[in-house]
Amino acid sequence: MAEERSVKVLIDGATNDLTFTYLAPESVAVTPGQRVRVPLRNRSAVGTVTGVEWIDTANLGYALKPILGTVSDDPFLTPGLMRLAEWIAAFYLAPIETVIRTMLPKPSRGDEEKRKTEKCVEAIVTVDEALLATFNGRQERQREVMRLLSKGPCALQRLTGDLGFPRSSVKALEERGFVKVADRIVNRDPLEQVDYVESPPLALNEEQSAALDQIRASAARLESGEKSRPLLLYGVTGSGKTEVYLQAIQHAIESGKGAIVLVPEIALTPQTADRFKQRFAKIKDQVAILHSNLSEGERHDEWRKVLDQKARIVIGARSAIFSPVKNLGLIVVDEEHENSYKQDTVPRYQARDIAVVRGQIENCPVVLGSATPSLETWNNVRTGKYELATMRLRIDDRKLPLIRVIDMRNEGRKSQAGPTILSTKLRVAMEDRLAKGQQTILFLNRRGFARNILCPECGYVANCRHCSTTLTVHRKEDRLICHICGFSQLPPRQCPECSGRSIVNAGYGTERVEEILRQVFTDAKICRVDTDSMRKKNELRDTLNAFRAKKIDILLGTQMIAKGLDFPNVTLVGVLNADVGLHIPDIRAGERTFQLLTQVAGRAGRGELEGEVVVQTYTPHHPSIQFARHHDFEGFAEYELALRERFRHPPFAHLALLTARSVHQERAEFSLKTLHGRLKRKLPEGITLTEPLPSPLVKSHDQWRFQVVLKSSGARLLARHIRETMKDLTFPDDVVVTVDIDPYSMG
Ligand code: ADP
Ligand code: ZN
Repeated sequence: MAEERSVKVLIDGATNDLTFTYLAPESVAVTPGQRVRVPLRNRSAVGTVTGVEWIDTANLGYALKPILGTVSDDPFLTPGLMRLAEWIAAFYLAPIETVIRTMLPKPSRGDEEKRKTEKCVEAIVTVDEALLATFNGRQERQREVMRLLSKGPCALQRLTGDLGFPRSSVKALEERGFVKVADRIVNRDPLEQVDYVESPPLALNEEQSAALDQIRASAARLESGEKSRPLLLYGVTGSGKTEVYLQAIQHAIESGKGAIVLVPEIALTPQTADRFKQRFAKIKDQVAILHSNLSEGERHDEWRKVLDQKARIVIGARSAIFSPVKNLGLIVVDEEHENSYKQDTVPRYQARDIAVVRGQIENCPVVLGSATPSLETWNNVRTGKYELATMRLRIDDRKLPLIRVIDMRNEGRKSQAGPTILSTKLRVAMEDRLAKGQQTILFLNRRGFARNILCPECGYVANCRHCSTTLTVHRKEDRLICHICGFSQLPPRQCPECSGRSIVNAGYGTERVEEILRQVFTDAKICRVDTDSMRKKNELRDTLNAFRAKKIDILLGTQMIAKGLDFPNVTLVGVLNADVGLHIPDIRAGERTFQLLTQVAGRAGRGELEGEVVVQTYTPHHPSIQFARHHDFEGFAEYELALRERFRHPPFAHLALLTARSVHQERAEFSLKTLHGRLKRKLPEGITLTEPLPSPLVKSHDQWRFQVVLKSSGARLLARHIRETMKDLTFPDDVVVTVDIDPYSMG
């Protein structure tokens, strides 16, 4: 009997989860997770090995083809990641092939791993004193180059750029046969230029020690084969959560393991990255940082460092949860309540939940940290699914800031010029800080100059022609811009409807507030931080450094400055319009507002000086605002969970949002109705279904959108029913139907 080794291969681009079987000669190492090239019909294709088995080929009745080769020697995906991919595919109803592709950085998705090469100069003779003596007085530069190269090859660009050697020296050395210039793979560490001063571990306070002990106990239990639950580290802003993570990571590293730390993209500021690099300055090459400013090549290099086990600590946003860290000893999800952990394209996974699943698969402790935990996580604590560690006090018993709520309806009545954006209280408080040399952060979650333009004569508002939304005024570009699709046009000088000449800007964006601040505080140094003003690569880093160095008095910004910043001299935080985001049709609107207010407020009074927060709102009695004002997360959670339970909203049920989109309105609507009919026909008990409805944003990027929402306490039941229903349902070519399990935006 002839047993031969075969592999199951999932071909790239396959949407049906089908695998093909190939022979894998014993001379090539293959394991699950390896990427291989295989013959497919008359071409060659790339795929992922999902299984290896020995089969009796003689009795098969047909001949198996051998694989053509592997994309790399080692598998790109660890066994743990392969299992995770299967879990994600099943839970979120996504093709497993798409999940696998999401786990890999772009340059390694093709039929070869495209490593970026660069011209490097390398010594090809032994560099010793005898050799160095051969250079005469006029060849000093050449001698220096040789001396440098005796330590190893150097990128040509660095030699002639940063280091300032003339190209002619390199050329002369080449001609003498001392060096060669060749293309080589270089690892570009995006932070290599920066020298980090080591910051040693701090002596933990009581609450911090207790939290760290809980994490270590969890790790110890898992180590000895017992079970352990994910841990919520619930600590007020400034309670020193990051220090606890840092020391927990250190323990993982000391026991020979690796760690992944997820931070929301927006909180992955240079400041956060620096804190990790500084703590682990001695092993800084073992720290990989994955943020969105990296080029594709840089991202790939960081990933490679992890795969090769050169880096054992990974800090990154959402997708860093897929880092191929081997022997994982800890996963931390910082600010676990952040919505940016949810991916909004297929596979629509929630990285915090994936972290918990990966922790189970890889038998490693998972720590979720927040000052304002998500209600999902809080409910898991209440039911005992998660463990809880609490830190109620700020470091050194610093007080939480005093929060004042300003009713802007009164401000509007007071002022002659109609509604204003700066209440008297806030303005006076700002003047006070300027006089004392203290700093202020102002927060407004809307970029641009004004919300839209309005004709007071006929009520005309400028809308996007591609989306069902208004256009935002941008003064500097002198354009009206759609924040959904990016469409822009010149602002009309007169009303296109009634030819009225008194068109006005309605509402305030950061650009407009900046202009007002410059008029009100003529001597203050003011800086605006939003995606329009921070376009260049290091601009945010430089601005935050300047702010830290007290070269800026007032920092005005969008949510880019709401999270994670730690500036001891900031004693005043102003929230200009707390209502943005409160009145949108979304079950999480209240929760988000509470979180945002608490987080923004947490930026004040982090140093020796006490902090104050001024919250401007038109709905001062809203529970989200009142609980935030009293720093009462637990009160808010009880209130909001009671509501959610009454209406069976998450976390008391899972939702599935099914959307049909098309450029043709009728076809999108018709397809959705067909789908709705099928879903309803064999609806299992335990699932409820809404009527077919237009999405809240009924048109986006020229696509019409209609939706139906399913609800059930069983996620598996929900997934099964949707999968079964959609299996033999086809839609017109120009209609796309998407499924979003546990959606974060109701479209
Ligand atoms: P959080 O992440 O909970 O908002 P941080 O970890 O940023 O809090 O800590 C707030 C501040 O307190 C930081 O400046 C940090 O360096 C400092 N800090 C944290 N732990 C200690 C400690 N044990 N002793 C002294 N300072 C600490
Ligand atoms: Zn648009």
